[in-house]
Amino acid sequence: MKESFIVDKNGFYGDFGGAYVPEILYKCVHDLQDTYLSVIESEEFRKEYHALLKDYAGRPSPLYHARRMSEKYGCRLYLKREDLNHTGSHKINNTIGQILLAKKMGKTRVIAETGAGQHGVATATVCALTGMECEVFMGATDVERQHTNVERMKMLGAKVHPVYTGNMTLSDACSEAIRDWCCHPSDTFYIIGSTLGPHPYPDIVARMQSVISEEIKWQLQEKTGRDYPDYLVACIGGGSNAAGTIYQYIDDERVKIVLAEAGGQGIESGYTAATFHRGTVGILHGSKMYVMQNEDGQIQEAFSISAGLDYPGAGPMHCNMAAKKRSEVLAVNDDEAIRAGYELTRMEGIIPAIESAHAVAALQKMSFKKDDIVVLTISGRGDKDVETYLKNKNLAGEYGNF
Ligand SMILES: *Cc1c(COP(=O)(O)O)cnc(C)c1O
Repeated sequence: MKESFIVDKNGFYGDFGGAYVPEILYKCVHDLQDTYLSVIESEEFRKEYHALLKDYAGRPSPLYHARRMSEKYGCRLYLKREDLNHTGSHKINNTIGQILLAKKMGKTRVIAETGAGQHGVATATVCALTGMECEVFMGATDVERQHTNVERMKMLGAKVHPVYTGNMTLSDACSEAIRDWCCHPSDTFYIIGSTLGPHPYPDIVARMQSVISEEIKWQLQEKTGRDYPDYLVACIGGGSNAAGTIYQYIDDERVKIVLAEAGGQGIESGYTAATFHRGTVGILHGSKMYVMQNEDGQIQEAFSISAGLDYPGAGPMHCNMAAKKRSEVLAVNDDEAIRAGYELTRMEGIIPAIESAHAVAALQKMSFKKDDIVVLTISGRGDKDVETYLKNKNLAGEYGNF
């Protein structure tokens, strides 16, 4: 039988994945494993989920033919505009799905981790929408560099807990959220923001984001007369916008998959978040994946100019696909991402999140035939990053003269 890259019945993707959780969480993780498919495949859930995606989040997100960039890169480039969603990124697709799941499972309290604050805002948003109590864990470093998102979460009624352990970034926020979950396993639902965590989370998040590629399919058919591209391109932190972008094409070998991870200051610099280039197999936050770690298995700090890609691991589905060469992962450095962000801004009038700018920068490292159809996901908008763009204007070449 042909291999599939979707999760198997034991929660594994090849050698990756699983559910490595402390004993106190066994019951709630198993409850979730036993329930999630029947809930999210039910007619009632699907109706509510799709109605909210449409009327609340603003889906479908457009598929936009970027003409000037197409000319520059010598291909037919289409941008999947997740930046136009309510709250500014793809994160809302997932939080809408998980809040409905939490409700169906009778939970009364929601917790979440956040890095750049996009997932925290998306979670606080759906909690306000449904009247659910919400607490968000966020590394103290990120609280400082993503201050506006902290204020947005507070306005939305969430309690934000700065985390002072480790490097005080995303990975530490995850650990702290899991600690809280261990203390309140029965009433609390943990809304994880990416294709990470113990099974079934990576599968839940991938399914909630798969609406991205569902739409790409019919939108491409409408625009090009063909329902599949030659290339799919996305940035990868934990892997959720990438998972959503590729989900409907995962076993379709006509479609090549190229993902951009954060090289930081360079994969050899010691200041990087390039998990696929620098990681080895280990266990982080309940799942087996590539992790940046030292010889003793201590997790290494990840560095990236983008808080959303600043994680020392990567989702198990993507680890398996990269290991089996189904996808290619390119490392994009901070300076390349900044420049690509400016380029998209000036050539198409779209200021992308710095995370998404990593995907744009991947185009320079690829070569195309004139008729190649390329779909690239713009995972979020750059409003939150304007200060960082301005601070790094010197990296923008001719676009920095203003
Ligand atoms: C969170 C975030 C990412 C990274 O997360 P993935 O799970 O890898 O998608 C990328 N882009 C934006 C705009 C984000 O907010």
